Amino acid sequence: MSFAASRLAQVKPSASAWVSQAAKEAKARGEDVIDLGLGEPDFDTPGHIKEAAHQAALRGETKYPPTNGTLTMRQAVVDKLRRKNNLDFALDEVIVSNGAKQVLFNAFMATLEPGDEVLLCAPYFGQYKDIVTILGGVPVPLICPQEAGFRLMPEQLSKAITPKTRWILLNQPSNPSGAVYSDDEIKALGTVLADHERVLILSDEIYEHILFDDRVFRSFVALCPDLQNRTLTVNGVSKAYAMTGWRIGYGAGPKDLIVAMTKVQSQISSGACSIAQAAAAAALNGPQEDVRRFCAAFERRRDLVVERVAHIPGLTLEAPGGAFYGLIGCADLIGAKTPDGDTITDDTDVTAFLLKAARVAAVPGSAYDLSPFFRISTAASEEVLNTAMDRIAAAVADLEGIHP
Ligand code: PLP
Repeated sequence: MSFAASRLAQVKPSASAWVSQAAKEAKARGEDVIDLGLGEPDFDTPGHIKEAAHQAALRGETKYPPTNGTLTMRQAVVDKLRRKNNLDFALDEVIVSNGAKQVLFNAFMATLEPGDEVLLCAPYFGQYKDIVTILGGVPVPLICPQEAGFRLMPEQLSKAITPKTRWILLNQPSNPSGAVYSDDEIKALGTVLADHERVLILSDEIYEHILFDDRVFRSFVALCPDLQNRTLTVNGVSKAYAMTGWRIGYGAGPKDLIVAMTKVQSQISSGACSIAQAAAAAALNGPQEDVRRFCAAFERRRDLVVERVAHIPGLTLEAPGGAFYGLIGCADLIGAKTPDGDTITDDTDVTAFLLKAARVAAVPGSAYDLSPFFRISTAASEEVLNTAMDRIAAAVADLEGIHP
């Protein structure tokens, strides 16, 4: 007997969950597995942020917070958006949630009618598809190939929009590809969207601070101000401040949308943890040196991984512009034979092979709707990354019949 409602039947267990489970089991068996499947910084939350949480608890900020966020945190978001992104939002145009993930859930729950289409730029953060599916929407992947720098082209967007399209999701720097758009590329997408008034835009900017090669981040609404009245800007403290466990994200958008999202949140979780909100406000308002330090470390690791992959026949990786992942091309490995005599047929086989032969956990591109690739996270020390690359190189060298 199944206890699960039918709406869950369409949500398949994700390939990333499979990898993480397999890596955990291997570790539990005592195997020395390097887990590069995870999407969280390996740094600790900076001390002044923890201290702010401590002080909030001592002050007695231990009661139910307002559903849409504490005044202090919403003010910190409004100030941050003005200071860093040159955006003007009022306090009632902001919601604070349990991670950016809940902001996404609130937004889709609040707006999707059955059958509404949501355009996703593949490769994309896998959860987008699952949330849309659970809520009765139709995820529509738009393939953004490596040759296009994993970026969506305006003509492609224009062709994909139908009368059923409700949302387009943009995410840059992207998880998993690290793709970053130029200002002109974003404006060109904005020009297409300007003609389609029913389409809402969700700009997921959670990797804003992890940007390389002296690039400057520009928020979608700053580049397309005419679309502010139907754009939800999503961000959070998980990635920039190494605060994944504190579960604070936020959204900024038109008041009506925020009110509807608040209604949803009031039925799920109410306000996010008051103490974590105090910590997140301190993160946004406080010194930003740690953010720069984290970003510099991710950039060194990006360089290391790009350099190492360049010397592994059969694998390809173009330098990602941001975020902390490498989406490695493995087309040449498809059809090759492992030393056990198995044939590699897709990128799930590649990751299964790497887990077994190299003892490195990575996520197959199928988890992001673009194959054949696998994603490694660079949220590990340079020493660990070097060991992982040594192992991957040795395992790949043992394959027979790699197609150049
Ligand atoms: N958006 C993207 C693109 C992500 O990669 C993630 C986390 O991996 C999230 C949103 C969710 O972040 P949070 O920890 O704030 O829920």
